[in-house]
Amino acid sequence: MPLRFRVLGSGSSGNATLVEGGGTRLLIDAGLGPRALADRLKSAGVEPESLEAVVVSHEHADHASGAAAFSLKWGVRLCGSRGTYAAAGFGATSIEGYDVVAPGGSRDVGALTVTAVPVPHDAAGPLAFVVSCAGSSMGHATDLGHLPRAVVEAFAGCDAVLVESNYDPAMLRDGPYPWSLKERILSPLGHLSNGDVARYLRASLGSRCRTVVLAHLSEKNNHPELVRMTAETALDEAGRGDVRVEITSREGTGWIAVGRRSSADAQMRLF
Ligand SMILES: [Zn+2]
Ligand SMILES: [Zn+2]
Repeated sequence: MPLRFRVLGSGSSGNATLVEGGGTRLLIDAGLGPRALADRLKSAGVEPESLEAVVVSHEHADHASGAAAFSLKWGVRLCGSRGTYAAAGFGATSIEGYDVVAPGGSRDVGALTVTAVPVPHDAAGPLAFVVSCAGSSMGHATDLGHLPRAVVEAFAGCDAVLVESNYDPAMLRDGPYPWSLKERILSPLGHLSNGDVARYLRASLGSRCRTVVLAHLSEKNNHPELVRMTAETALDEAGRGDVRVEITSREGTGWIAVGRRSSADAQMRLF
């Protein structure tokens, strides 16, 4: 079973990404209620109890609110940083179990290897992840105020990258949020703008990457077409016609294969 993933929910209404490879399935984040999460898993053809773990990026409700209840209901272990465990209050519940992954460290979850990379965000121990299986890997980073070198380097070998493209600065500036919230989003511990993502795609996207999924779009301060145009322009400027861009709505995506096109490309070169 080659590595693939599927966004089940994205943005402030709740985040969850299903990752599958080598017969193992895990969720990154559970920011939806356990019933909604189970429904979305089932419509992806996946039984909730077949998951090996829920890997939690940080304690904010749109990423972690359903994690403890999901773990209890379906007997699935949680995994994340020590900071997330404390800040999410997992200690107060009888969850199935919690596997600590240290920032910069890796942990095997069945056939998948999860590597945790610390990210700058106003949370207790927020993480981005690289999930690898049999030579293919995908990077997953939402909720970060800027892209630190450690994330860029960890994603350099990834075949697919999911990254947030949260806001357009002009829409945020002119939009309805109170100034204190605008300042939080704009800060180095807030969220990535479309421009931040464009700079990353233009200058730092790894040469193996064939798929970029742009996630966690603000519904008030961004627009999917603006996100697509900004990203595709940046990739054009970088001569990266080999990279496909997908924008996820709040309802998520279909299955996205990781690394398959790369091996097809490699075979093409043989003939
Ligand atoms: Zn979030
Ligand atoms: Zn957050």
